[in-house]
Amino acid sequence: MSDAVKNKLSWFAPSPLFYQRRIAREVRIGNKLVGGRHPILVQSMATTETMDTEATVAQCLRMAKVGCELLRITAPTPKHAANLKNIRAALNAAGCDLPIVADIHFMPEAAMEAALHVEKVRVNPGNFADTKRFAVAEYSDQDYREELERIEERFTPLVKRCKDLGRAMRVGTNHGSLSDRIMNRYGDSALGMVESALEFLRIARKNDYHDILLSMKSSNPKVMIQAYRLLVQRMDEEGMDYPLHLGVTEAGDGEDGRVKSAVGIATLLEDGIGDTVRVSLTEDPEFEMPVAYRLANRYPGNPSRSNLFEGVDKESLGKIWIQDHPITEYRPRESRPCAMGPFSIDRKTTVRVITAAPHKPSDWERNWRSYIDYRFGTGQNDIHPEAYLFSIKEAADLEGLAKFHAQAKPAQLAVVARFDLSEAWDLGAKASADMVALRLPQGSLSQPSSAKLSALCQAIAAKGQSLMLEFSQAPASLLFEAVDQAMAMLDTLKLKEVSLCLRGFDVSQLIHLNRALASKLLQEGRPYPIVLALDSEEEPEEVRISAATLFGSLLCDGLGDAILLESGRSDVDTVGLSYNILQASKVRVSKTEFISCPSCGRTLFDLQEVTARIKARTGHLTGVNIAIMGCIVNGPGEMADADFGYVGGAPGKINLYVGKECVDKGIAFDLADDKLVELIKSNGKWKEPA
Ligand code: SF4
Repeated sequence: MSDAVKNKLSWFAPSPLFYQRRIAREVRIGNKLVGGRHPILVQSMATTETMDTEATVAQCLRMAKVGCELLRITAPTPKHAANLKNIRAALNAAGCDLPIVADIHFMPEAAMEAALHVEKVRVNPGNFADTKRFAVAEYSDQDYREELERIEERFTPLVKRCKDLGRAMRVGTNHGSLSDRIMNRYGDSALGMVESALEFLRIARKNDYHDILLSMKSSNPKVMIQAYRLLVQRMDEEGMDYPLHLGVTEAGDGEDGRVKSAVGIATLLEDGIGDTVRVSLTEDPEFEMPVAYRLANRYPGNPSRSNLFEGVDKESLGKIWIQDHPITEYRPRESRPCAMGPFSIDRKTTVRVITAAPHKPSDWERNWRSYIDYRFGTGQNDIHPEAYLFSIKEAADLEGLAKFHAQAKPAQLAVVARFDLSEAWDLGAKASADMVALRLPQGSLSQPSSAKLSALCQAIAAKGQSLMLEFSQAPASLLFEAVDQAMAMLDTLKLKEVSLCLRGFDVSQLIHLNRALASKLLQEGRPYPIVLALDSEEEPEEVRISAATLFGSLLCDGLGDAILLESGRSDVDTVGLSYNILQASKVRVSKTEFISCPSCGRTLFDLQEVTARIKARTGHLTGVNIAIMGCIVNGPGEMADADFGYVGGAPGKINLYVGKECVDKGIAFDLADDKLVELIKSNGKWKEPA
């Protein structure tokens, strides 16, 4: 192992405190280059029947028109693979020379045929040479070796063909379709996913074939993030530098699908990992492109970003973060609770949602109505703000604040009053609120100001209110100076009901600064809770990506006790988006979780229509996890996390699952929705809609 690798403390990137793109080996896919310093390539997959050349070509042309750079098409059998030749020819005739990727599961023969016609072949190491039986068996070392020899025998001809013809290959591992061999030895884990790919990779390397990309997909962003990070670490250790294809499988549709994809993909892109992305939505593939571009365009080819940590001991802080964040372990940060009205900001209970009231006090009355709408009008009682934050500018604002607070108290809603410190000297102690947020000034505090701040904090605490201290100093040297000053004051005053919040930085800076702050607090034994905050005036599609990137990446690493998303735009639903991010990050469940595949040429029913129908009937079942999968070949394996599965079994027939067990087979399509509801009822997970 090289010194550089050892010095990384077995992590997967040079530092957790700054962005540096991982420079992967350059791989050619037809007329496209992936890896190196090339911009992140954006791709998607056709949903048409592959034997229907006309429909597939038409859809591919629509995908190309909206910027798709790589066209994936399923090839379930050698016959379908052979038809890729016709599709390639028709696309060429239409002036489209984008590379095609053949998507293969189970059939090495189809892969061999596809390699003759298209620029890249995707294989799934979980099923390329294995049939999944969910069998539990002990594999002795001898058994395991023999299995690997069998795989080598089946995989080597494809490797040789791809090498001879100059084709690229993706070894695409899916969390839900790991082979029985891997499951029995490594379990249903990120480690199993990585080993599954490495087994295939070693065979390719043995044949001196390197035009390979890898993917580690899961419908659970946390698992997917862990698997990619571990893969990079393992490749570093073995001296490999293959580029990575990023994606969250079965992300679903609408905002849920976009948020889940962004949480997984953007977290890794922020880690500097990823060379091509596919946003997998249960929608027509054209709709995936804008989301994919919004993600990819944030990370142009440049290898690094400005470093905020000049003058700070970033090595020590980085080491603390790495030691506290083993790659394959989700470890929520331990913080002490801080009261916020009827709630406690306390990661052990849940992650709280704070929303900001509009800046104009004349609009504050509307907030009450919007709270009532959220609380009682959406039919989803679990999705509503838990605290409203009001920015107080002048004495006149205190009256409106008091009125709101009087209404909020019996309704179990917390009120936070925010002051810039200069305004707070006079007003802060008079505010009627559960928590007072003080935004500390840019420079360090003078002696008189510091004394005034202490007196103010004491007055706030004496009223039974808690404190949120907000910091926005830059660079990190100034920020930490301000934090140190505040910590000294809190220690002297022995204040406990305090949370900390960083504001006013861009998303990438906030990720790194929050990591550094958590590490600093850990080092100093000060477990104050951290409120993650983003203030954005971006348009709805853009703010969705920004918020999912910031909150998702930190929450998936166990950091963040509450989230505060602010937007002055009326078309941004900050509360709904906050809850969606919490659900996608698997830290707080507030509604039904749907896992639905994007559909492809194997799909046996109209995925979009069925998903919408099932959502309408079961969308009120908070905490229930339902998978809707287009086919049986790959479906059951891919819905690894679901409580119930609705899977295409044959044309016009549906199979229903409880967990991974098929409990009802060959149900007529028209009866399947009712049967699913019956199944949920008989398993005690049904409740009537409100
Ligand atoms: S589960 Fe869906 S996307 Fe996956 S292979 Fe089957 S139909 Fe295609």
